[in-house]
Amino acid sequence: TKAHVVVVGGGFAGATVAKTLRLLDSAIKVTIIEPKSYYITCPASNWLFADLITQQQLSVSYQALKDNYAVDILTDRVAVIESARRRICLASGQQISYDRLILSPGISFRWDSIAGYDAQVAEIFPHAWQAGPQTQLLQQQMHAMPKGGVILIAAPPDPYRCPPGPYERASMMAYWLKQHNPRGKIIILDPKRSFSKQALFEAGWAKYYGYGTANSLIEWHSLADNPITQLDVASRTVISDFGDRFTADVLNIIPPQLAADIAVQTELTDESGWCPVRPESSQSLFDDFIHVIGDAAHFAPIPKSAFAANSEAKACALAVVALLNDKSIASPNWLNTCYSLVSPEHGISVAGVYKLDADKTVSAVVGAGGVSHSSVAGYRLQEAEYARIAYRSLVNNSFF
Ligand code: FAD
Repeated sequence: TKAHVVVVGGGFAGATVAKTLRLLDSAIKVTIIEPKSYYITCPASNWLFADLITQQQLSVSYQALKDNYAVDILTDRVAVIESARRRICLASGQQISYDRLILSPGISFRWDSIAGYDAQVAEIFPHAWQAGPQTQLLQQQMHAMPKGGVILIAAPPDPYRCPPGPYERASMMAYWLKQHNPRGKIIILDPKRSFSKQALFEAGWAKYYGYGTANSLIEWHSLADNPITQLDVASRTVISDFGDRFTADVLNIIPPQLAADIAVQTELTDESGWCPVRPESSQSLFDDFIHVIGDAAHFAPIPKSAFAANSEAKACALAVVALLNDKSIASPNWLNTCYSLVSPEHGISVAGVYKLDADKTVSAVVGAGGVSHSSVAGYRLQEAEYARIAYRSLVNNSFF
């Protein structure tokens, strides 16, 4: 009988691993379980705030994975993983056996970290950190904001999905405000002392949005020793540990994160909240027959990005095919690239190459990758174009 690999979650990690498994070994039966009938990409979802893309254009169907690679897609949610029996139970009641399980369910939120903020309140004050209806709601709130109003973005602590994401979001909102509400302001409150691509973001903000002047559209404040711990819904106010109060017209709280519920519930996470894995095979440290990839897994120093999820998925597929065919596992390398738009004409990026060390941990290859510092004329315009191309090719590479 054919080996059966079941993939939990059809995001960038799940789609890529399913496709790659079928490309490497068409004798393997591959099933993706995913509750949504189509996927909305988080990458490029910030561009919605600058009217550069529509939600429709962010949506991807699973049809190509079925048609081109004969991946089975089950539109359902995994309710329970019975790892001792190598079986999963779906919300619909169906049970499915697996030879190997690949867990790629993405993230969840630490709802206990900000008093007054939970999954229900997030439907009013959206985090919009899982692209979809909340992203549109946040856009509507920005559109409806009074002239001269304040948008507050509460950035999350490390590690979290998409390190440059909150700052690209601020950039795209500032681009819109500059045209439609130029006296408005975006205030970023950050529990970190510094952030991804900070120098490049700040240079771009200074160029387009008056950053560093009294009339800046964007302000960034580090609250490293005094993080936001409370929300008062009625007054739209967030409150810090020391009792400082920040009131806004639009509140975008991006909470601290951890692996998705199904990973926590199956006891595949450690005290960090993420799933520890053997990087060479992405096997869970707690279960040899379960592999974890994408944002849910601990692959640090590789950041939690869609590009990295795609890279982890390819290495995982190679390892799973080797294990199913009693071959040895090759030593992988991983890649990451993250582009951000500061404005439609101004792109910035960071890239990294990662390797497996002799002690089986992951480290960045020194001298490879880095941040796109350049003063060459036309470079930022070109990087903005690369950002759009990189997004398209990542979606194509993962889902088509
Ligand atoms: P996800 O994409 O979240 O997919 C997980 C899937 O699992 C979901 O579809 C979910 O429905 C499903 N699932 C969950 N639980 C279950 C269950 N119990 N049963 C079945 N299915 C389940 N990355 C980049 O590389 N470039 C960018 O420019 C970029 N921009 C971003 C901008 C924003 C605003 C945000 C929020 C993120 C951005 N990212 C970017 C990061 C990127 O979105 C994530 O790193 C990526 O989505 C991780 O992929 P994943 O497959 O691990 O998780």
